[in-house]
Order: sequence, then C-alpha cells, then structure tokens
Amino acid sequence: MEKEKLKIAVQKSGRLFDDSIGLLRKCNIHINNGRDQLKASASNFPVEVLYLRNSDIPNYVESGVADLGIVGENLLVETGKEVEKVLPLGFSKCRLSIAGVKGRPLRDLKDLEGKTIATSYPNTLRSFLDENQISASIHTISGSVEIAPNIGLSDYICDLVSSGSTLFKNGLEEKVVLLKSQACLIQKKSLSPEKEAIRDKLVFRIEATLQAKLNKYILMNVPNGKISDIIELLPGMKSPTVMPLAVEGWSSVHTVIQEEEFWEILARLKEHGAEGILVVPIEKMIL
Ligand code: AMP
Repeated sequence: MEKEKLKIAVQKSGRLFDDSIGLLRKCNIHINNGRDQLKASASNFPVEVLYLRNSDIPNYVESGVADLGIVGENLLVETGKEVEKVLPLGFSKCRLSIAGVKGRPLRDLKDLEGKTIATSYPNTLRSFLDENQISASIHTISGSVEIAPNIGLSDYICDLVSSGSTLFKNGLEEKVVLLKSQACLIQKKSLSPEKEAIRDKLVFRIEATLQAKLNKYILMNVPNGKISDIIELLPGMKSPTVMPLAVEGWSSVHTVIQEEEFWEILARLKEHGAEGILVVPIEKMIL
C-alpha cells in the first residue's frame, strides 16, 4: 500500500513562490520537479507539492484538496475561508493600506465618506468601512491598482504595501493601515493521525529553520578580567560558553544572539574589551 503523503499547496507563480520553495528546501525537503508541473513529490519526505494560483489556495485547503498551504494572511482575511493557521513564516511582510494623493492628508476617516476607493481586496475594505460606519464606493480591479487615482478611476486605493516604492512612484502615500500580513502555513480543519504526524515533523523543521534565520552565533576573545562585564551584555539562549585560550589571561566566549539586536550589541562588546569578534550564520536551531 502507498504511504500517506501530505499535500501542500504553494503559489505557482508570483511573490510567494521563491520563498515558499526556498523554505521547503532549507527544511531538507527535496522537490523533484519544477513548477511547470501541477504537482511534484519530495524524494526524501512524505509530501507532495501542488502548484496552484495564489487566490485559489485557501479554497483548496478548506475543501481538503490540499492538506496544507502557504499563503499571505491578507488572503485569508479577504477570502474568509475556514482553515487553520499553523504558523507565521516571516516572509512577504506587508500591510493592506488605504493610500491617496501625496500631500493631501486624511485628517479623519470620515474624509473617506462618499469617495471612491479602488482595490483588489473588496471584502476586507468593505468590513473596515462598515466597522467605521463610512459609506464609500468600492471599485474592484484585479491589478495595477496604484494607477487608479492618476487616471481618474478613484480618489483612493486600498492595496498591499511593503517598501512603499510603488506608491511613491505613482505620487501616492499611505494614509491608513487596515491590516499587517505575512506568509503563513495554513491547514485544513482536520487531518488524519498519519497526516498530523507528518505535519508535526514538517513544522518542527520549519521552526528550526526560521529560528536559525533570526539568530547568529557569535564568538569573541575576552580578557579574563572583563568576562563578567561581557556576560552582562549578552542576552544568549542560556548561559554563554567560556573556554580558556592558549594565551594566558584570555578566554573565548561563545553565544547566540538575535539578528535584530546584534549590531547594537557588537559595538558595546567592543567597548567593553572583546576582540576578534566573529558572527556566524546558524544552519538550524532547536529551542
Ligand atoms: P502576488 O504574487 O503579487 O499575487 O502576491 C501574493 C501574496 O504576496 C499576497 O497575497 C501578499 O500576501 C504578498 N504580497 C503582495 N504584495 C506584496 C508586497 N508589496 N510586499 C510583500 N508581500 C506582498
């Protein structure tokens, strides 16, 4: 009998594709075929990857055609499908925002009253307007939303923003953030015990990969008299490793620090007498 395989839906083409497949590869899951196929099996892990249109993924996961999927949280809100969020994946971070012509500040949400807003996310926008008791007209378009105000199609747009450069190029600026989004792993409501076990293994690998990305391993040489000052500065996993160097009076101190705080900490370590500081990427990390 063929062994159970977990079916995981990923975007066929578009922004999420590279990071989704890259994440599976970092989890040492070798996917055999390219995305010109509808599906591909992994040679060393019981998963099958289904390459689907982004907007169809929540639907396929809800109906159970796929067991898991990788999509932006914004799409879950927009489609309102009954699926479970398993974990955030840390890529494709963006905001769904209302933007309008630069230099014309929106003093109050009530300024949107009676205006036209172009968007590809009409459901999310409608709920936001309803919650704030604003009556505005929604113009649904499927792409290039940012040009709508310049061609007289709408007063505002409601679109995904990350760096803001698309808005900037079109003379627009962000006025109100409706929601923050990132890619996340989703699953259908109930999985068989066999599939749950495979999902748990996959989630374990993903978490170890994501943790590793967020952290750096650092090593430095410290005069023995300064070790306690240096340890005070280190927010490491538990307690740092301290090992004597061949040179009398010096030790090597090793620890793990979060990527986002390491520039700040590196400068302070140097000030407090650390030398020869090495910062090394971590391949996998299990807490
Ligand atoms: P797309 O490939 O452009 O259809 O976008 C697919 C998904 O990528 C969206 O549902 C969002 O979750 C995410 N996304 C879209 N635009 C952006 C952006 N500007 N920055 C980051 N993520 C985005």
